[in-house]
Amino acid sequence: MSGIFGAYSTAGKTVLEEVYLGLYALQHRGQESAGISWVQEGAVSSKRGLGLLHNAIDQKQIADEHGHCAIGHVRYVPLESSRLQNVLPISANYARGPIAIAHDGIITNLAELTKQLVQRGAIFQSSTNSEAILHMMAQKSHMQPIDAFVDALRRLEGSYSLLVLLENSIVAARDPYGFKPLVIGENNGTYYIASESCALDIVGATLLRDVEPGEIVVIGEKGIKSLRVQPERKCGRCMHCSFEYVYTARPDSIIDGRSVYEARKEMGRRLARKSPAEGADLVAGMPDSGTIAAIGYAQAAHTPFEMAVVRNRYVGRTFIQPTQKVRELGVKIKLNPIEALFLDKKAVIVDDSIVRGTTAERTVTMIRSCGAAEVHIRIASPPVLHPCLYGIDTRKEGTLAAVRMTREELCRKVGADSLNYLTEEDLIAAIGLPADKLCTACFSGRYLEDGEK
Ligand code: AMP
Ligand code: SF4
Repeated sequence: MSGIFGAYSTAGKTVLEEVYLGLYALQHRGQESAGISWVQEGAVSSKRGLGLLHNAIDQKQIADEHGHCAIGHVRYVPLESSRLQNVLPISANYARGPIAIAHDGIITNLAELTKQLVQRGAIFQSSTNSEAILHMMAQKSHMQPIDAFVDALRRLEGSYSLLVLLENSIVAARDPYGFKPLVIGENNGTYYIASESCALDIVGATLLRDVEPGEIVVIGEKGIKSLRVQPERKCGRCMHCSFEYVYTARPDSIIDGRSVYEARKEMGRRLARKSPAEGADLVAGMPDSGTIAAIGYAQAAHTPFEMAVVRNRYVGRTFIQPTQKVRELGVKIKLNPIEALFLDKKAVIVDDSIVRGTTAERTVTMIRSCGAAEVHIRIASPPVLHPCLYGIDTRKEGTLAAVRMTREELCRKVGADSLNYLTEEDLIAAIGLPADKLCTACFSGRYLEDGEK
């Protein structure tokens, strides 16, 4: 997963600090690298670096530059591809002028496309999905840039939300299934495109709408233009990522018309109704990912909610730190339970998901060490049983706790008194979008079928 943010001022004002702020609001989508590219006097300039946004790019330097049209990216990548060449946006001068591309998602036919491109003479500098798009466009330099871009999109399979600086405009595209979120905002003649609406809030923009699946939006000096040039899909369904509502997105975002906060709370309520813990004294969420579902659970169960586990706000997301060793240390330094609240109590602990099971095991150990009488784990999503092919790093099937163990075995392994998940049906109902508009493949195994592209 990654975060993308673009801004275009029709009044010619500089938007670079706003892009910086937008990326700041999207930092939860990736902490490995950050980059901003902008158009200045007909050329593309960029600042890019490794690490969190403020380490990667100096805000003061950005404030000194001028660009009325800019895109930015924050990236989550596995450790092995964390090198400067892979930091997005990727930019180049091709036959038709300067171009920069930033991308959230996974092109599933990348290997095949790369092979074809290399056979036709392309030389790759990075292992990014975005560079393949750049080469596809470069090899169609006889076409108008926007036509070359559309032509490239038609050859992509998988998930993508894309931002491109092209011919003094920003072009945004969302794949035909709408896997990754992408929204449009506006404030006083400046248009914004962002992975999540929380990034519009930070720059004071109004959420206009989502970019629709398969839609291409061009923002230029005359404002917004929408192109619908993707081939018609026969199945008519979308694949909005349900994991965005479970974990990935910020709760203050609205994705495809649904509030992430409301969805999480409803997941908690439904979990409480199907999997009550009779006689519980308190409900606590694992901060921050389980907190909102825990509030919903507590409300529906008529059990007091306590902020009984406190999080050090200056430590990043545990899972996101790539090595197992660092991840384990991360859990220890990140969370601290309030002992007195748990002593001799029957506690329900709500978390958003179990992937490898490391977090759940550590959680139970931590709560038991406070002298809790019982620890009941409730997970506000179904068991993760399948890898994500569309860009969320849920690891290989063999490492998934729910694949290796039954629910009872996992409950014993983590040391809980009981462990229950949300059902897929309840997950879909809590999000509130029709089932044929959601991807639940990592829970259900229902991927796009062969022939669907
Ligand atoms: P674990 O079961 O120890 O592998 O980790 C599960 C926890 O990691 C969950 O409680 C989530 O908060 C978080 N998590 C789940 N999926 C992801 C993901 N794809 N990227 C980052 N963190 C995740
Ligand atoms: Fe999202 Fe899971 Fe589908 Fe991946 S498989 S896109 S994480 S719902």
